Amino acid sequence: MDKGKFIVVSAPSGTGKSSICRRLLQACPEIQFSVSYTTRKPRPGEVEGKDYFFISRQEFQKRLDGGDFAEWAESYGHLYGTSIRTMKESLAKGTTVLLDIEPRGAKQIKKKFRGGVYVFILPPSREELLLRLEGRGHEESAVIRARYAQAESELKEISWYDYVIFNNDLETAVHQLLSIYIAQGCKRSNLRSKIKKFMTK
Ligand code: 5GP
Repeated sequence: MDKGKFIVVSAPSGTGKSSICRRLLQACPEIQFSVSYTTRKPRPGEVEGKDYFFISRQEFQKRLDGGDFAEWAESYGHLYGTSIRTMKESLAKGTTVLLDIEPRGAKQIKKKFRGGVYVFILPPSREELLLRLEGRGHEESAVIRARYAQAESELKEISWYDYVIFNNDLETAVHQLLSIYIAQGCKRSNLRSKIKKFMTK
């Protein structure tokens, strides 16, 4: 059986990544979103088990020590991790998994799992990125500076991603991510067992 595929999507904060991922999942219900574990508190509207599994630092540490995470990273003072069991089970079933994770975690996934496609989403320009990082202007400058620093270090990782989407326009960006997903499904290396079966007389 061809194993499941996975799509890793990363982007600096405020790039529209979540909206693009949401739209891909709506268009392709067969894709399974990898629900991460996090120590951050839920934001209004976020649903336990759908957006994240919200856990304490202590619980996160316990899971980390138990080897439960395929990857993990600290971002803006909070811990985030991907369940290795869910990832392995989904891939074994042949399901395509979508991971919305930052580049340090993405790199760990790349070392551990084969068959994934790595997509980096960028805002239309650097000026736009700075504007988006500044948010609505209510935050302290230290918070904004921390966001700049994180965005800069994330941008350095773009070199090893397979695809880059400039989010000039949401519809176009969604189509581009959808196209990447579709192309992955047609990749010969992802269709080995199907091709073998076809060739067998
Ligand atoms: P937020 O707190 O805004 O939902 O996410 C902050 C950052 O953490 C985003 O860049 C998001 O992609 C990343 N993130 C979410 N889940 C995970 C995860 O399981 N692992 C890693 N490494 N990053 C994650």
